[in-house]
Amino acid sequence: MNPAAPDPRPLGRWLCEACGLVYDEARGDPDSGLAPGTRFEDIPEDWTCPVCGVGKADFRPIEPPSAGAARRPASGPNRASADSRTAGTGPDSRAVIIVGAGLAGWSSARALREAGYRGAITLVTACDATVYAKPALSVCGARGVSPEALAEQSGAQLAAELDVTLLARTWAIELDRAHRRLFTTRGTLRYRQLIIASGARARRIDLAGPGASRLFSVNDRHSYVLFRAAFDRAAAHARQAQCQVRLLIIGAGLVGCEFANDFAGLGAQVTLLDSAPWPISSRLDKVVGERLRDALAGQGVSFDGGVRLSHAGIPPAAAAGTEMGSEALDAVQAARVALDWTSSCGTPRNQVFDLGLMATGIEPETRLAHRAGLPVGRAIQVDAHTLTTSDPRVFALGDCAEIEGQPGCTIEPIHRQARTIAGEITGQRVPFESRAPVWVVKTPCLPLVIRPAAPGAGAPSGAACGTGQAPAETAQADAS
Ligand SMILES: Cc1cc2nc3c(=O)[nH]c(=O)nc-3n(C[C@H](O)[C@H](O)[C@H](O)COP(=O)(O)OP(=O)(O)OC[C@H]3O[C@@H](n4cnc5c(N)ncnc54)[C@H](O)[C@@H]3O)c2cc1C
Repeated sequence: MNPAAPDPRPLGRWLCEACGLVYDEARGDPDSGLAPGTRFEDIPEDWTCPVCGVGKADFRPIEPPSAGAARRPASGPNRASADSRTAGTGPDSRAVIIVGAGLAGWSSARALREAGYRGAITLVTACDATVYAKPALSVCGARGVSPEALAEQSGAQLAAELDVTLLARTWAIELDRAHRRLFTTRGTLRYRQLIIASGARARRIDLAGPGASRLFSVNDRHSYVLFRAAFDRAAAHARQAQCQVRLLIIGAGLVGCEFANDFAGLGAQVTLLDSAPWPISSRLDKVVGERLRDALAGQGVSFDGGVRLSHAGIPPAAAAGTEMGSEALDAVQAARVALDWTSSCGTPRNQVFDLGLMATGIEPETRLAHRAGLPVGRAIQVDAHTLTTSDPRVFALGDCAEIEGQPGCTIEPIHRQARTIAGEITGQRVPFESRAPVWVVKTPCLPLVIRPAAPGAGAPSGAACGTGQAPAETAQADAS
């Protein structure tokens, strides 16, 4: 094409299949130095998704939303059932559409059926919709439960049970509230009510160096499967070399501590780093935090608090020393990270790890709501009693919802929230009641229950779930 001639093609949009980010050619990505109007094909090949770090190969074009009547979604292997009534595509569609197949999404579908709702339900989800208990991710290793065994039921099975049309591996990308249309990567759907149950994604901290992208994050079954596979490869290699897997965990919040305990139970030599002086410092006082640190040390977890991370590099390839095939060895090598950090007393440290995990919290997944002009603070803001957003036809619950300034990040309220929403939709009101969360820290070396303290007690400031997003709250920890 003549570079001087204007390109007649309309500007397009590209979806990151790993995290749902939409690269809009019209907007570019100014933070990465891509000017508005930069076509995807013109982006340098080493560009990475600004949210999750995957490369250009993980993006695919989004077909432009049709301006006219809503279309029927594409059929495919993930459809549990398909007709225009259940898909909610007709002009008189009465479908409730749910976005997300985590606990909040599936609970919403179940609660609607239990409340007697007989209309169509369509569930749109970016993941494969497998039903599983997310809290089990951080304790299943030492219990000998394989990642595959975490799956309780396939999404298709539960969808059939609840008479739900399931669109798995499908991103909801845009919401046209004026016309009650949801644009997805598999077509446009019309809704009568929309329930956003889009949860949260793992939060990654900025860390310089090419090794940073090698660090795993785990906030769902799929990412755990990838992490466990890498760990199992490293463990096979370590067994042959008669040593232990050197596992780095950045972030000593609840999830980081639970993984540290669990992988130590699998035989790893765990180094747990945090900028705070003791584990779960946002919720535990010094005495209990140090007890947890010591209990973890008893399992072989080395905690270094008050650290400053400087650089994650790629270590030189280690000598083979085992009978592993070259492909397996390459995979083991590809996970290694050389980390530079400064300890709390100012001593520079450097260590090579076989594998690293960032357990630095979660970020509520609010992009759909934000683009649709719904109020978003720390998460999608909803009415504390009805869980409606500012749009009475749109609800939110679970990790993506913010109630009275608090984003969700625990299991307990989700079923109650789902019942409230089902009640609103079916006209049988069940006002939601907020309760302060109780945290169970699943560290078998020192199991803890963290209860909210009486009002007025001194509060350590900080984060819940290691997110850096929840309120300061006094912790009363019971070691059980
Ligand atoms: C390791 C670990 C241990 C935990 N332990 C505990 C515990 O002991 N106790 C406790 O109370 N809580 C615990 N939690 C937190 C708890 O698991 C969560 O609060 C809960 O699972 C959130 O459920 P959810 O359905 O709101 O979100 P998620 O499970 O995150 O589900 C979100 C869904 O939305 C989909 N989605 C997102 N965006 C889109 C989009 N645009 N289009 C389509 N689909 C989309 C995703 O694919 C996913 O299916 C733990 C969490 C982790 C990671």
